Amino acid sequence: MEGDPYGRFNVTKNCTIVVANPLDWSVQSAYLLTIRSGVHNTRVKVELSDVEGYPPVYNETCETPVNPDGQTGDLLYSLTTSGEFVTTTVGCPVGKYGFLCHKTCICKNGARCHGFNGACKCPPGWKGVACDIPKQDVSITTTPGDLRDIYISANIMFHCKAHHVDVRSMSVTFPNATKNVHFHVNEIYFVVPNIQPTNSGPYTCQVRDTRGNTLNTTFVLNVTNCAPDTKGARCDEVCGCLQGASCDRWAGCVCPPGWTGTRCQTKCSLGTYGKNCARNCSCLNGASCSPSDGKCDCTDGWYGKDCSKPCPNGRFGLLCQQVCACKNNATCNNVDGSCACVTPWTGRNCDQLPSTDQPLLESLVSLGSLIVLVAIVMTILYKKGILACSAPDTGEEDKILFELRRMEQDLAQSLQPGWLGRWEKKIKHLTPGPLIGEGMFGLVRKGKLHTTEGELAVAAKTVRVEDSQSYRDFYREAAILVAVHQQRDGDCRESNIVRLVGLITKSAEKYILLEYASKGDLLGLLRRFVNINEKDLLGNILGYAVHIARALQELGRLRIAHRDVAARNVLITADDVAKLADFGLARDVYATTQYVRCNRPGVDDELLPLKWMALESIETDEYTCQSDVWSFGVLLWEIATLGKDPCYDGRMQLSFLQMVGILRQGIRLERPPGCPEDLYRLMRSCWLDVPDTRPTPEGIEERLLQLRRALLPHDVIAMETVV
Ligand code: AMP
Repeated sequence: MEGDPYGRFNVTKNCTIVVANPLDWSVQSAYLLTIRSGVHNTRVKVELSDVEGYPPVYNETCETPVNPDGQTGDLLYSLTTSGEFVTTTVGCPVGKYGFLCHKTCICKNGARCHGFNGACKCPPGWKGVACDIPKQDVSITTTPGDLRDIYISANIMFHCKAHHVDVRSMSVTFPNATKNVHFHVNEIYFVVPNIQPTNSGPYTCQVRDTRGNTLNTTFVLNVTNCAPDTKGARCDEVCGCLQGASCDRWAGCVCPPGWTGTRCQTKCSLGTYGKNCARNCSCLNGASCSPSDGKCDCTDGWYGKDCSKPCPNGRFGLLCQQVCACKNNATCNNVDGSCACVTPWTGRNCDQLPSTDQPLLESLVSLGSLIVLVAIVMTILYKKGILACSAPDTGEEDKILFELRRMEQDLAQSLQPGWLGRWEKKIKHLTPGPLIGEGMFGLVRKGKLHTTEGELAVAAKTVRVEDSQSYRDFYREAAILVAVHQQRDGDCRESNIVRLVGLITKSAEKYILLEYASKGDLLGLLRRFVNINEKDLLGNILGYAVHIARALQELGRLRIAHRDVAARNVLITADDVAKLADFGLARDVYATTQYVRCNRPGVDDELLPLKWMALESIETDEYTCQSDVWSFGVLLWEIATLGKDPCYDGRMQLSFLQMVGILRQGIRLERPPGCPEDLYRLMRSCWLDVPDTRPTPEGIEERLLQLRRALLPHDVIAMETVV
């Protein structure tokens, strides 16, 4: 073949012309090819058209570093640990590009490949999309190559080189206009020692070829900086900066936030922070303030951005992590948890009555007057409507529905009159047993319920703190469970939502009675396994995921979003059936690692299970059945890692803004070791940005069943009774 000196095309044996190397309209827009085969000549004209967007442009400004130790599986970008939306480049390994570093570069002859779009930055002497077409050129390079290393008193070496040129002469012109000419060489090296500002200016290399054509190129040297750690007009003063501060020729040490002094040797004084310690701290209640960013480190009993908020009811201590033990309406001290009792209660936890050596009459009189007083106050408050949020006593159902209507119109509408009453059980029929768990709003005890058919093991949930928020959460869960169970009425299939046994709302102690799941929660169960690669283990535990996919189908039919689908909220029954539990309680949790406090505009210090939440739920508070699907994807990830805490971009703890930033960049949880590609693909589909493009719970169930069939031996599948 002729007419193709740079090997853009190939001809196969059956005379097909193949594009063998990238074509570039700007380099050559037409080719006239002559193909010789024996005595036959065939001429073909190939005309290129200029396609918009091709070839990709190499944009120097947003280039990313190459990650020399990188491996495939790297990401191009990650967030810094401290900054919200501030990005640091990580870079792809050599020869790779794209956000996931999974695309292969085509750049030749040592050309650099752009991290984002794979565009090639050709070295001197080469052109074309892949830098594989020779180009007549002359270049100047310097050593050191990094301009930051060129400073007053350093030595610099220049290198002029002609590429693909038949050189007759080569000359160098210096900033002072002197010129050196050399004949029949195609490169020149020269050194400028001990450079000074007077050496600044243009250095031009010019090449003349044997046909009289000239090519030239110019490098402009600008020397203004001193050597590292020196400053002053003559660069003869030492900076001696501490804390990794940089040394500026005129300003001296430029201190990082939190430090001051000529060498950055002094920490910001108490109450100040930031660059040059110029900002004032706003931390309250004895909190210390970080000198670098002013963040407050709250003392025991306080929380919030400036530590101005006392721990919420029922919590005390550092980060409000401890649970108060005060009983009988006592007030709990937010700092040390001590209880201020209401008469007549005494004792550390206000759970004792005065000893009997107190004169009986005196106690009775004070108790009697207290009751009268409380009754009067309650009547006044009730009439004024102030007690509308407190625990209901009479007309339970009306009040509960009223409360629900205030919160969630949809939920209230899904409850028909009389439904709540149907589930009411008598307190005398319940024998509460040992504590088996602590939930968001309450405590969970194992218990026995005496029914006409005999004794039934139940889990009995109560409110922990008697405040309106806890009651609201209590009734919210009760209402959802009633709605789910009433609407399934007559459906005899086993449900994958934890079974409601009854409610006790008419006594002082209120309970939600649930079927007792003897194997506890899924997270605990997963963490007891040792190795995911054990024979059939993943296949077996994916059975639980199938069950929860069915629970999501049930909720979908009822148009209820769970909002906190996670392994910790899945219970496993004695028959090994997974059941979704704990409905809509996420907001009442304080200071756990799974729930992160978020300062969303207009939302006051909310606690959210951020790492399980869909992008739209985090950004716009939107919860739907599709956002439950996202959380379900995280649950699958928990299964595949045997209960690891989700970790995005190598970090366990992420603020609200960091999480949004990470998800918006397309970063998702990584594929766990040993996780089959198909399962990971299913997880990733649950984490698609657009809610409607995520799979449906029905689709998820089908894909999980296929996966299980691939993972488990046929006899196991055949023996299984589908629940
Ligand atoms: P919850 O308030 O639903 O988050 O429950 C708190 C903890 O109590 C759970 O993590 C379980 O360990 C336990 N628990 C809740 N409900 C049940 C149940 N029906 N059967 C057994 N354990 C339960």
